[in-house]
Amino acid sequence: MPEGDPLLKDVRKRVLGDFPALQEIRRRRPLYVEKLVKTVRDCAEYNQRYAAPAALELDWRMEQDHDYFAWDLVKAGLQYRFLSLAIPGMVEGVGGLTVMFALAMEEMCSTCAGIANIFGAHALGISPLLVSGALAQWETVLREVARKEKEGEPVLMAAAITEPSAGTDAEEPHFLAKARLSMNASKVPGGYVLNGRKCFISNGSVATYTMVACALDRERPLETWTSFLVHRDMEGFSVPRVEEKMGQRACPAAELLFEDCFVPDENVLGFEGDGMQPGTLLILAASRAPVAAIGTGIARGAYEWFLRWARRGKGGRAPIDEQRVQMALADMKTRVSLARWAYFNAALSFDATLGKVLSGVPMKAIGLLPRSVRTSEGMQRVYLSRAAKRGVEGIVAAYITSEEVTKALANSSLAKAVGGDTAMYVSSMALEMMGADQGEERVWVEKFFRDAKLTQIYEGTNQLNRLTVFMSDVDDSLRVELKPFIGRGPGKGAK
Ligand SMILES: Cc1cc2nc3c(=O)[nH]c(=O)nc-3n(C[C@H](O)[C@H](O)[C@H](O)COP(=O)(O)OP(=O)(O)OC[C@H]3O[C@@H](n4cnc5c(N)ncnc54)[C@H](O)[C@@H]3O)c2cc1C
Repeated sequence: MPEGDPLLKDVRKRVLGDFPALQEIRRRRPLYVEKLVKTVRDCAEYNQRYAAPAALELDWRMEQDHDYFAWDLVKAGLQYRFLSLAIPGMVEGVGGLTVMFALAMEEMCSTCAGIANIFGAHALGISPLLVSGALAQWETVLREVARKEKEGEPVLMAAAITEPSAGTDAEEPHFLAKARLSMNASKVPGGYVLNGRKCFISNGSVATYTMVACALDRERPLETWTSFLVHRDMEGFSVPRVEEKMGQRACPAAELLFEDCFVPDENVLGFEGDGMQPGTLLILAASRAPVAAIGTGIARGAYEWFLRWARRGKGGRAPIDEQRVQMALADMKTRVSLARWAYFNAALSFDATLGKVLSGVPMKAIGLLPRSVRTSEGMQRVYLSRAAKRGVEGIVAAYITSEEVTKALANSSLAKAVGGDTAMYVSSMALEMMGADQGEERVWVEKFFRDAKLTQIYEGTNQLNRLTVFMSDVDDSLRVELKPFIGRGPGKGAK
């Protein structure tokens, strides 16, 4: 990046204005804030050079041919390391946490949420490996993603939770306990055999690796919900169809079919039965703030295009001269800001929690081991042993408490509902006020409107997110249960 990069200067000014809390954080952690600003700057450049020129044409093309996938746009993102933003530095990633990823999502989605969601769904696929502390897969899969990215070869990931008969039910423990599931995994020597279907899986048709969560016993789904890492070349895995979508079309949503698909023991993330508690709940605590940022970015994009339209004069007078348009602009701006602060707060609360684990002595010590040791076969065997897996769980429970992560889940669920509703509210208002205008601005706003709806649906519908806020923050019936060392109470020893 050249010295005195004008885009960097503009973005720094904008980011510090949009996130007033960062000004204070910058006084104590200037390098951290500069890394965030640099990421937003890269997203802004990506928007200008690649996403904006392609977005409308791609949206139209995918309406005609939903099997098409814009690999060129994914490859264009590699120079900015968009596939490694969430990958820890110790395995060659950028090492950004939730705040960085959320800021990136807002920026990208202010131009095209479909393209952005390819990177978003990829990060969702990474998150089960991160939160389960699956060090074996950090060294193999995550390192492969980061390394191949540097070599110009994209390795995409996806996360598959939803089943044809269980969407909302698969995202919350009380509901999962009573869910009607169609997919299951059976234990066989050396691994598991997966049978059934997953549906609506973002990136499902293009991902090299997909995290698949399913029950071992459909009569006891909560107790047996388990996370597996599936490679697209595994026998018995196929993609029967890609959905036709109304919005966010650039990111394909696919049905996945498992027919006696054998997955080896080492591809289980964490332990049998960990899939929902704490597995999925930790993933959602981490991922809902960036999804809230997707909604915020869509709302911001609609607002910015509406503002351009409002400034365009007709016969010496522009819509912005009318008080009703001024009030609408103020209302939109207010809602975008509130949604932004909600996701920023949620992301910060998750990072504050996770950061304690990552900056703790045990994780730092592992990171200090020579790479040759960490990537050796012997170390892989150690990482995959029950003792090491229990050790990782114990480290997490020693540094953070169930209360802290439950609060982070409540914050991210709150932000997600606000972000999705804001995207719908602002894009609808802009579209209604523009009327039947045929200009370019309206074409963009119409796309933002179609892109917005999904933000109320995925990552738990907004109804479910509200229920999560109620259960975790009002009546205390939902708690993220961390697994402490044997003999220690939850959160004991927390710092
Ligand atoms: C384009 C797209 C991409 C997606 N990407 C992914 C992905 O990458 N990975 C993945 O695993 N999933 C993905 N999903 C699935 C998404 O998470 C689910 O669609 C969502 O969880 C809702 O599930 P459902 O569609 O089965 O609706 P249902 O669960 O059947 O819900 C229908 C309606 O009933 C409401 N409802 C259900 N139960 C309750 C309740 N107990 N109380 C109150 N209201 C309730 C819901 O809020 C909703 O309004 C995607 C979906 C779409 C459309």
